[in-house]
Amino acid sequence: MTELYQLTIHEAGDLLRQRKISSVELTQAHLDRIRKVESEVKAFTLVTDDLALQQAKEADRRIASGENLSPLTGIPIAIKDVICTKDITTTCGSRMLENFKPPYDAAVMERLNAAGIVMVGKTNMDEFAMGSSTEHSAFFPTRNPWDLERAPGGSSGGSAAAVAAGMAMGSYGSDTGGSIRQPGSLCNVLGLKPTYGRVSRYGLVAFASSLDQIGPFARDARDAALLLQAIAGQDARDATSSLEPVSDYSAALSEDIKGMRIGVPQEYWVEGTQPGVVDAVRKNIEQLREMGAEIVDVSLPHTKYGVAAYYIIAPAEASANLARYDGVKYGYSYRDTDDMWEAMEKTRQYGFGPEVKRRIMLGTYALSAGYYDAYYKQAEKVRSLITRDFEQAFEQVDALVSPASPTVAFKIGEISDPYQMYLNDVFTIPANLAGICGISIPGGFSEGLPVGMQLLGNAFAESTILRIADAFERVTDYHTRWPANL
Ligand code: GLN
Repeated sequence: MTELYQLTIHEAGDLLRQRKISSVELTQAHLDRIRKVESEVKAFTLVTDDLALQQAKEADRRIASGENLSPLTGIPIAIKDVICTKDITTTCGSRMLENFKPPYDAAVMERLNAAGIVMVGKTNMDEFAMGSSTEHSAFFPTRNPWDLERAPGGSSGGSAAAVAAGMAMGSYGSDTGGSIRQPGSLCNVLGLKPTYGRVSRYGLVAFASSLDQIGPFARDARDAALLLQAIAGQDARDATSSLEPVSDYSAALSEDIKGMRIGVPQEYWVEGTQPGVVDAVRKNIEQLREMGAEIVDVSLPHTKYGVAAYYIIAPAEASANLARYDGVKYGYSYRDTDDMWEAMEKTRQYGFGPEVKRRIMLGTYALSAGYYDAYYKQAEKVRSLITRDFEQAFEQVDALVSPASPTVAFKIGEISDPYQMYLNDVFTIPANLAGICGISIPGGFSEGLPVGMQLLGNAFAESTILRIADAFERVTDYHTRWPANL
């Protein structure tokens, strides 16, 4: 029998509106699930159970009166701890913000609260979203629900694990270079990175502002469409947010993909990708062909420079964004001295973890006089070339398909070399550099661990990749599988 915590959002939404279940029951089922498995998974930095039950009661009242309903009214959702929640601790996985209670809600939270979601908690993450494993959280690593010895991916590992383990029906994360798609892939949930500018970044703690984007984790494409719909749209407080009209994402579903052109970028079959991952994705490509899509080989010639360019641009922007943590304005403050410089220095020394410091050093170096032209400017040129590769590809095809991550979930502690860790994002980073949208969907298993398939779409073509994902789900059952050990 399906448990309440195993339902999709659209299934639960139907039951709520038919008054067959209440939001309080649904929420309690998730809080019970959290009580049962969270001590092992450790997906949350904070479980907001009192708030959740209060929001669930309010949702039930709204449903009873039929007023102002949204498909997310009464639905238990988890929020990555990089998204500001008014008066609720927003740690960003860092000692620096361990006790930070934002005085305002992020734009996405305003929308989600207006929709009447039930927030079950804030989720663990690599510090300041820097990482691919959630091991760089200043507090504790999150574990992969499919194998508790392994990492859930990152940086939004908590949000991915929460959905994979049935502790939330959907969640939100942020993706700067792959932090939604890669953990989605490793945890067998769908992870969607919207087009740059589709979702307001107001109230998202900044990592690399020209790359960051908030997006959902979901159990299927229909849920992802609902979760994206709720947060998409222009916001005057984010100058990079787009005026492009928002599509009706659910309307694009339930169609077939006959005649669609799907490109296979040749540069995405790189050495170092596990054979089990290659086999699963190749098999899926055949599946897409059988479903009526036309599969074409395409070339994205500048792919191999993606990781290098990203690791100049992202740290450069991070070094500027993280200058604000000086112990004066907010966050952790070292107070054991009368000397201002010493106070700032010690604040940053104790407040930031090693990976964050590494990025700040890399970034300030790349931006310093004498090196700016050689590194930062070069990287921005490469970024233009990568963007142009995609523009040319999307003249020929509707979407691109590739693995989402070169490996299945790795063991906690297994990757100690930072450069090795950076390579986890080879397939996801180019989309951030170009600002296009991408999704990772459950695409099979290798040695019992989930393999994610990535679909990339042109800017503002979220409907296209959701439509392919939805069609793929109708002929496969990977997305319906649950980890057996929890
Ligand atoms: N893993 C990449 C990094 O460490 C991407 C992180 C992200 O998307 N936030 O920068």
